[in-house]
Amino acid sequence: MAWDFSTEPEFQEKLDWTREFVRERVEPLDLLYPHRQFHPLDDELRPIVDPMKQEVRDHELWAAHLGPELGGKGYGQLKLALLNEILGLSSWAPIVFGTQAPDTGNAEIIAHYGTEEQKEKYLLPLLNGEVFSCYSMTEPQAGSDPKQFTCRAWRDGDDWVIDGWKFFSSNARTSAFLIVMAITDPDVSVYQGASMFLVPTDTPGVEMVRHVGLAGEDEDEGMHALIHYNEVRVPGDSLLGGEGQAFAIAQTRLGGGRVHHAMRSVATCQKALDLFCERVLSRETQGSLLARKEFMQGDIADSYAELAQFRLLVLYTAWEIDHYKDYQRTRKNIAAIKMLTPKVVHDAVWRSMHAHGALGVSNEMPFGGMWMMAPIMSVVDGPTEVHKVTVAREVLKDYEAAPGLWPTAHLPAQRELARERLAVWTEHLVGNS
Ligand SMILES: Cc1cc2nc3c(=O)[nH]c(=O)nc-3n(C[C@H](O)[C@H](O)[C@H](O)COP(=O)(O)OP(=O)(O)OC[C@H]3O[C@@H](n4cnc5c(N)ncnc54)[C@H](O)[C@@H]3O)c2cc1C
Repeated sequence: MAWDFSTEPEFQEKLDWTREFVRERVEPLDLLYPHRQFHPLDDELRPIVDPMKQEVRDHELWAAHLGPELGGKGYGQLKLALLNEILGLSSWAPIVFGTQAPDTGNAEIIAHYGTEEQKEKYLLPLLNGEVFSCYSMTEPQAGSDPKQFTCRAWRDGDDWVIDGWKFFSSNARTSAFLIVMAITDPDVSVYQGASMFLVPTDTPGVEMVRHVGLAGEDEDEGMHALIHYNEVRVPGDSLLGGEGQAFAIAQTRLGGGRVHHAMRSVATCQKALDLFCERVLSRETQGSLLARKEFMQGDIADSYAELAQFRLLVLYTAWEIDHYKDYQRTRKNIAAIKMLTPKVVHDAVWRSMHAHGALGVSNEMPFGGMWMMAPIMSVVDGPTEVHKVTVAREVLKDYEAAPGLWPTAHLPAQRELARERLAVWTEHLVGNS
């Protein structure tokens, strides 16, 4: 019997250490240095953060998403899920542990498709946590429908020239390089005619027009760039993978990225539930604790059960990825958890925030940032609707149409079949008596 819901003691020790370390050492960074995670370390932060990263390395937890050939420990996705359930509690923790998006996915694709020179130039500093990277695919007029992409790249002598616009390129302002998707063959479908390029951010023609912020952030905090690639000239060896391979490459990156978002979202939901329970046990109204009100009890039960269901599907999907080593084979459950993530986050945070009354909607509690994760999770790496369609298509692959006019469960036909089967069995009994 191989079903097992326990964690091996050696890894549990690492998780226990992580929980304590994140609470005591990393969460203070969230409070004192918010919005600085994706900026290069300055003289004030380097002496604080570098030793933390070293402690993480000493505990063999640095870049836990990577295999040993890339400096990780090859823990696999299931252990990463258990780790990310803790790292998701803090916005600095993924940086301190070397598992922050989008660098994780960017490192994966360079490791997978890059030449030795590309790995040395781009991957090594990324894995060492020395630089940040940016993935530049979405365009102002099109995100979830790549057929509307217009950013082009063409050969000119030994070089490539990239021209077009990209939107919501996260961390572009602090990245050392950009991974840009551009159409290299407009005569075929974009799925065969787009390619990826590695572009140093300081290349002439990379024009950062605006650094767009998320709702609620100050204007100067924006990290999602609108970029004009204005005839950006890069050498021929800037192509990542083969010509026309952009979508094959993108799938490698997005599969993992979606699961990692879901893993960290388990932490958001658990934190919301923890705060919720503390609140209802602390606050009294109309003669009794909130915890005694049946509306509140119903909400706690819903939050608990929805989180438990979600977490199990996340862990199961992580297990599937480790087991099959094939993102295509696990795409149904990857899409399912991606589609569930905004809903469980929305409901868990809403209930908890609401139970805190005015304090809950104030800037003296952390709910505002947690709350924004719901709409963000419903579009980042593709909108919910698209993932629902994927789930439905994958589910339907296991079914076929009913052979005749009536559904196979049509009761008159079922009864007739049951009579025939019983008659055969009765004849068999009589024949043997
Ligand atoms: C925080 C954040 C970070 C991001 N970082 C990056 C990044 O680093 N690099 C990058 O390239 N992009 C990034 N994105 C962009 C993200 O990938 C896109 O937002 C996403 O692909 C959706 O594209 P869109 O915003 O253009 O929405 P659209 O494609 O215009 O979709 C808008 C809405 O239309 C509906 N819709 C879309 N398709 C369908 C359908 N098939 N059926 C039914 N309804 C549909 C959905 O409700 C959807 O939300 C980021 C986004 C966010 C929010």
